[in-house]
Amino acid sequence: MVSIVGAGPGDPELITVKAMKRIRQAEVILYDRLVNEELLEEAPGEAERIYCGKAPGRHAASQEDINRRLVAYAMQGKRVVRLKGGDPFVFGRGGEEALALAAAGIPYEVVPGITSAVGAAASASIPLTHRGLAASFACVTGSRCHEDGSPVRWDLLAHGVDTLAIYMGVSQLPYIREQLLLHGKAGSTPVALIEQGTTSRQRTFLCTLENMHELAKAVKLGNPALILVGEVVRLPGQLALLERNVSTRIG
Ligand code: SAH
Repeated sequence: MVSIVGAGPGDPELITVKAMKRIRQAEVILYDRLVNEELLEEAPGEAERIYCGKAPGRHAASQEDINRRLVAYAMQGKRVVRLKGGDPFVFGRGGEEALALAAAGIPYEVVPGITSAVGAAASASIPLTHRGLAASFACVTGSRCHEDGSPVRWDLLAHGVDTLAIYMGVSQLPYIREQLLLHGKAGSTPVALIEQGTTSRQRTFLCTLENMHELAKAVKLGNPALILVGEVVRLPGQLALLERNVSTRIG
């Protein structure tokens, strides 16, 4: 039996009860780079911990290799946990692993996790939807590696979706900006860049579609980071103002 488990967006407390149970019962854990290592301490001491991380642009273990190892450990009758950052089925390649397990006749389950767009938005106090401002949001990849198979429809996203949560976009900011401007999104559209969302190292920067690239360069934005585009990004400013008013009233 293999459990494909979401570890949540970074803060180790943002894992589900079910995911934690699976970690505590694991005999083998194959984990990714974005998994908070504190969670591994929850596994039994004798459990085997195998790092399968890929830094952007580099590959520690190929996906085929990971799939093969999952199958091999499961065949040995071990309780296998495949632990992934965020949610395994949101840009996590969990689907490919599920297919490989199914093809080998191995039973598996998927334990969802809080995806980083949801986690980072919450930590930055940015609601992904908001009455009157945003009736929809989309999770989008900013990585052009995906474009061979299923190209991102920036033309439709620029008009059809209110809030864009862009994953894997740090190295593609000029391209994302160009695409969204080309398809009619205003340069003044507010943008939040959220680095290491939900962790104690989180940095949040507010800017616009027009200047997000310069800002990211100036602050040396690193991975992992999420790009939120849309009017909802203005809300934390309003919330902060309200909080200040409340505290001056109370104070
Ligand atoms: N399955 C993961 C996504 C993996 S793709 C999930 O559901 O969240 C990797 C991308 O996720 C990164 O490039 C970054 O855009 C985003 N990401 C992951 N953790 C993050 C964090 N703590 N803060 C901001 N973005 C994060």
